[in-house]
Amino acid sequence: MNFDWIQQINEKLFIFRDDLFPFLGGGNKGRKMKAVGLDVFSKKANAIVTTGGVQSNHCRAAAVFAAQNKLECSLVLHGSAEDFYKDSGNAKIMRMSGSKIIFASAPAEIGTLMNAEMKYYEERGLKPYYIWGGAHTMEGGGAYIDAVAELKDYCVQSNWHPDLIFLASGTGSTQAGLMAGLDKFGFENTAVVGMSIARRSAQATEIVAKFYQDLCAHYNIKFTNQKAIVVDDYLFGGYEKYDSELKAFSDSSIRDYGFILDTCYSGKAFYGMLQYIRKYDVTKKNILFWHTGGVLNFLAR
Ligand SMILES: *Cc1c(COP(=O)(O)O)cnc(C)c1O
Repeated sequence: MNFDWIQQINEKLFIFRDDLFPFLGGGNKGRKMKAVGLDVFSKKANAIVTTGGVQSNHCRAAAVFAAQNKLECSLVLHGSAEDFYKDSGNAKIMRMSGSKIIFASAPAEIGTLMNAEMKYYEERGLKPYYIWGGAHTMEGGGAYIDAVAELKDYCVQSNWHPDLIFLASGTGSTQAGLMAGLDKFGFENTAVVGMSIARRSAQATEIVAKFYQDLCAHYNIKFTNQKAIVVDDYLFGGYEKYDSELKAFSDSSIRDYGFILDTCYSGKAFYGMLQYIRKYDVTKKNILFWHTGGVLNFLAR
């Protein structure tokens, strides 16, 4: 079996290269969209309505999936329209995808605009499929339960087990999915540490804990009540924010590791993980960094 997607950095640190997930642009949104797509097919839907920012990995994945499968697609975007029309990265792929682009001038408008798109397709006799931002859905989280099966294969064959898994945590569905996957595949001694990229720890922890429980119930997995851990020490001021130190860290990521750590997601998580390892003296633990992507965010400007 080929384990190209696990990269070893040193004796203790391994990387799960989900940034390379085989879907245009890769990353966790590629993996989630593949799983959501199965539900789109099973519901015989022929249009997609979803939302995100102008550099949203999720919207890019939805747009690509729609193009590949000849589905209609409406993306309700928030953020700067000017950036959207001049940026590269996800914005460029969305622009080229053939998706219908609608701008929300305020966050409060998003729901209304999405509902209007649903209605637009219904009135034309189509069957639209609504996807919550970030694919924070049972299918999106479920993709990460299944992903743990891939990790399990690696662990069995290489006789290596992670004590700690670190990842960038946003809506929390990737983290919750991994936690449910660890329960399903019997990783009793592995803990997941989410590095929040936007939310404060109290709120993020609550969301992950609830979603993890919901996923276990939905997929009939024996719930072991793992502690939801979401660290908010490396927010760098919030979503899409960063400072010169993180920028320098991100800029040297290719040179240092041969992969991209962007300033919005994986860079915060990886930087935070290195600090966390030192702070909590877990240098003797086996560590897996789950690389959720961000390559196109890095290449956006
Ligand atoms: C969306 C995203 C995340 C966060 O995933 P959630 O499931 O929303 O927590 C992390 N990394 C990248 C690159 C993302 O696009």
